[in-house]
Amino acid sequence: MTSERALRTELSAVAKSLHARGFCANHEGNVTARLERGRFLATPGAVSKRLCEPDALVVLDEKGAVASGRGKSFSEAALHLAVYRVRADVGAVVHAHPPYATAFACAGRALDRPILAEAVVSLGAEIPLVPFSAPGEAAVAALAPFLERFDAVLLGSHGVLAWGDDLEQASLRLEHVEQVARICQLAEPLGGARALPAEALPALLEARRKAFPRLAKAAPSGPPVSARPTATVIPSASPDLARIIAEELASALRGR
Ligand SMILES: [Zn+2]
Repeated sequence: MTSERALRTELSAVAKSLHARGFCANHEGNVTARLERGRFLATPGAVSKRLCEPDALVVLDEKGAVASGRGKSFSEAALHLAVYRVRADVGAVVHAHPPYATAFACAGRALDRPILAEAVVSLGAEIPLVPFSAPGEAAVAALAPFLERFDAVLLGSHGVLAWGDDLEQASLRLEHVEQVARICQLAEPLGGARALPAEALPALLEARRKAFPRLAKAAPSGPPVSARPTATVIPSASPDLARIIAEELASALRGR
């Protein structure tokens, strides 16, 4: 078990790294890690991630109140605690507003097409969009349907939330979401990112199940649960066919 001192050092480094990469402006973003006995180490509210030294971190209780430390709690703590309540396997949660992924979240678009093999293995075939809700209980309720099946989500008109076994895994997932979003946007003027061939997906998803044994026990993937403002994926059709249909629909709608 990692000592609290070591966890403080690691969490502080993750927070500073979020700031250094431009993923958190002003007081945006927060990072937490599970301690023992229902306590969570956290970045303090209303402080730049640039200034989150190990001794500036706070310990939160199961309701998100500060149990020790001089800093404040933050409203998004409710989202972190919702993840920990549902996912006993999760040891850390990272939230930030990385610009490319946040642009998708603000446009109301999920990253719901599998375009990169490595991302399918590490994040799954889609990164869903949680519909926007006001902070607090409504945001927790909106997030709830996504917690079992996913390890990273876009928060509508807001940012990215990612979780994992530990700080390293959770922060890598957030970084990976941003990378997928960035590639999608860079591909837009080139005609848009193409979905991987449908026949490539089973092997990639099997590699994912092997990499993350929890998934072998989880319910099989059902229909996408993300809010979908555009028709982009038809599960039984090939991704290319789905793309063609989506483009036809979009051009038909533009013609009205
Ligand atoms: Zn936020």
